[in-house]
Amino acid sequence: MKHDVLVIGGGNAALCAALMAREAGASVLLLEAAPRAWRGGNSAHTRNLRCMHDAPQDVLVEAYPEEEFWQDLLKVTSGVTDERLARIAIRASSICRGWMRRHGVNFQPPLSGTLHLARTNAFFMGGGKALVNAYYRSAEDLGVRIRYDAPVDSLELDDGRFVAARIGAERIEARACVVAAGGFESNRAWLREAWGEVNGEWPADNFLIRGTRFNQGVLLRQLIGAGADAVGDPAQAHMVAIDARAPLYDGGICTRVDCVSLGIVLNRNAERFYDEGEDFWPKRYAIWGRLVARQPGQIGYSIIDSKAVGRFMPPVFPGVKAKTLGELARGLGLDEAAMLRTVADFNAACRAGSFDHAVLDDCRTEGLTPPKTHWARPIDTAPYYGYALRPGVTFTYLGLKVDERAAVHFGGKPSRNLFAAGEVMAGNILGKGYTAGVGMSIGTAFGRIAGSAAALVAAPRARQASPHAAV
Ligand SMILES: Cc1cc2nc3c(=O)[nH]c(=O)nc-3n(C[C@H](O)[C@H](O)[C@H](O)COP(=O)(O)OP(=O)(O)OC[C@H]3O[C@@H](n4cnc5c(N)ncnc54)[C@H](O)[C@@H]3O)c2cc1C
Repeated sequence: MKHDVLVIGGGNAALCAALMAREAGASVLLLEAAPRAWRGGNSAHTRNLRCMHDAPQDVLVEAYPEEEFWQDLLKVTSGVTDERLARIAIRASSICRGWMRRHGVNFQPPLSGTLHLARTNAFFMGGGKALVNAYYRSAEDLGVRIRYDAPVDSLELDDGRFVAARIGAERIEARACVVAAGGFESNRAWLREAWGEVNGEWPADNFLIRGTRFNQGVLLRQLIGAGADAVGDPAQAHMVAIDARAPLYDGGICTRVDCVSLGIVLNRNAERFYDEGEDFWPKRYAIWGRLVARQPGQIGYSIIDSKAVGRFMPPVFPGVKAKTLGELARGLGLDEAAMLRTVADFNAACRAGSFDHAVLDDCRTEGLTPPKTHWARPIDTAPYYGYALRPGVTFTYLGLKVDERAAVHFGGKPSRNLFAAGEVMAGNILGKGYTAGVGMSIGTAFGRIAGSAAALVAAPRARQASPHAAV
């Protein structure tokens, strides 16, 4: 049976594409590599979507205009972004929630202790798991055919035109195809290759993957090999410092360690290596994965005292707790004398100020390298806590180059019927850096665009749903 539109992937971008194509009247088959119980990719781990809005809107307070969103993106990417595509995603984020609601997604204001995002980000009621469940339900109701345990190995192409997908010996034809199969973050061999060998170590061997194990980048690699234009650097990724005890895959949000700005972070030599108070945590949490990745053994230790307790969302595993700093060093396996020296130097360098974690306060160190420029208070009040940290990869940025119709490009020319959405093309907008919630903004915008464009090619007489219309 030949379908109009084949969607490869089973997360947010794939589901948005499948729903839009089906709403436009196309017949749609969605292939999800994971079994049903693990469906939804990294999208199942998410909590929110960054949304532009000019005035308060249900769960979003105040305003977050297009220009501010764009400037935020420009800042975090240091300009390594495609402004045209970025603005498409930004504008789409202001009109997509009515459509999302129609497909069963509900929103809620942020819970206290999240990353202070009440103005900019709409939170999904029940998180990303509820979002993907709602989309799957809606897709089934609309007649989208869904297959689980269906990892596509390769695509058959003819001069940049999609012909068929292959799963083992099986060949699946369609008139158009949307690839929404995520990045390659779950592929440890590829991460190893991308990060290479540094001082006799292979840093990627110590990375943990925060999300799904199914984003192996099989089609990304095949398409680039077949001449699809690529964007982004394979070593760029969203990386967070997470609890070293997190599982290799799917640890999700609860393994993140959020007390970095309230204390100090040491490497395995018990030395500090970066300004823990450089900026507000929501603006800095996504750099700490890379910082830890550059340390010997790719391990760090976040140390706090009892003054920090209650000021951050506790991670799922309790930290090592100790009555003295010496006991804490032993509990973490750090050299006791070295850690006591580092903490003593830090404590001596702290200048008294008025501590306020909600502003860039004046509690800072003096004469210390690296400095701690805000929220620097001596670590002197028992009990003490420590968390071992590992780099946690959220998603990779190497992707397929696309245009405003989400068409994959071959040698600078757009494919007639092959489209890409979500993480697999997010690198067009996120050359580096990250701002919370933009992954889902990009996936929702380009998933909807790709689904509409694929339906238009595959079933030109079908009713066309515009991904740019507010519904
Ligand atoms: C812990 C965590 C928390 C996050 N929180 C947020 C957040 O709150 N807000 C936000 O904006 N972003 C967040 N992100 C990032 C966000 O998850 C991604 O940007 C977004 O989900 C990407 O959607 P996607 O559909 O492209 O990829 P995914 O949701 O990862 O979906 C990819 C799908 O493709 C399937 N697949 C892969 N290869 C194949 C193949 N060969 N054949 C068939 N299927 C295949 C996978 O099984 C999966 O279903 C978070 C990520 C993680 C890991």
